[in-house]
Amino acid sequence: MTAKELLILGGTSEASVLARAVIARFGETLNLTTSLAGRTQRPSSLPGRIRIGGFGGAAGLAAYLTEHGVDRLIDATHPFAARISTAARLACEEARVPRLLLLRPPWRRHPFDRWIEVDSMAAAAEIVGRFGRRAFLTVGAGEVSCFATPAGVHFLVRLIDPPKRPLPLRSYEVVVGRGPFALAEERHRLKRHAIDVLVCKASGGAATEAKILAARELGLPVIMVQRPPPEPGDAVETVEAAVDWLAREHPFPRVERVS
Ligand code: NAP
Repeated sequence: MTAKELLILGGTSEASVLARAVIARFGETLNLTTSLAGRTQRPSSLPGRIRIGGFGGAAGLAAYLTEHGVDRLIDATHPFAARISTAARLACEEARVPRLLLLRPPWRRHPFDRWIEVDSMAAAAEIVGRFGRRAFLTVGAGEVSCFATPAGVHFLVRLIDPPKRPLPLRSYEVVVGRGPFALAEERHRLKRHAIDVLVCKASGGAATEAKILAARELGLPVIMVQRPPPEPGDAVETVEAAVDWLAREHPFPRVERVS
């Protein structure tokens, strides 16, 4: 039997967990490729093949799907990675490849949370100075520049890689780190830097939730940028459900392991 081709659009911790789960479940009945945008310098290790870099929009991705005989696509990109998810929907429609969206559940607001929910990064930048003078900014390297204008706010900026050039902020310091982060670590960071407001994306997921819990404990306001609407189509919230979708949509024989 010819091995089936699965393409995972990755760049998230869920995509890495999914890649491992798929290999464990389907073994050699499936050829797995994970696609990364190439934003981080040291992507975490992944089983299967890895390809890096953009496809050239929906048309480029559709051509890739056809050229590589992709049988199934799972979009496990970040909830804020809207362009690649739209391209995946359009490309899969064109190439007639079944697509599943693995979308992590959003964080749930607790009665003690002081969230200020906004629709855009620009809106967050506009109001941050009203809520604090020392902001913990965890919005990703691509969007730090939205915070160039607020005066009188010092930013503690968390990035996965050290910045290659100075950030376009009036007053800032950088902390480099990749999740998952522990609650004790986040609590300590907020206290040590005398943070009085947190600015983040409504990313959801366990890996970066500790900062939300630490802010709750310390009674800090959290300016939370809302997610873009998800692409329509089949969607699940967990890796287990994504593996089940694969098994249901295409019943690859189960690999029995004796250990
Ligand atoms: P985006 O705005 O949706 O994508 C911008 C462009 O990057 C896409 O049009 C595509 O280029 C390319 N691209 C994105 N993801 C790709 C992938 N998995 N494989 C190949 N090409 C990809 O996405 P973004 O917000 O810049 O995020 C880039 C990557 O970082 C995503 O894979 C995402 O999962 C990950 N990430 C994003 C965030 C976030 O907050 N946005 C946070 C953590 C991780 P072409 O048009 O040339 O195909």
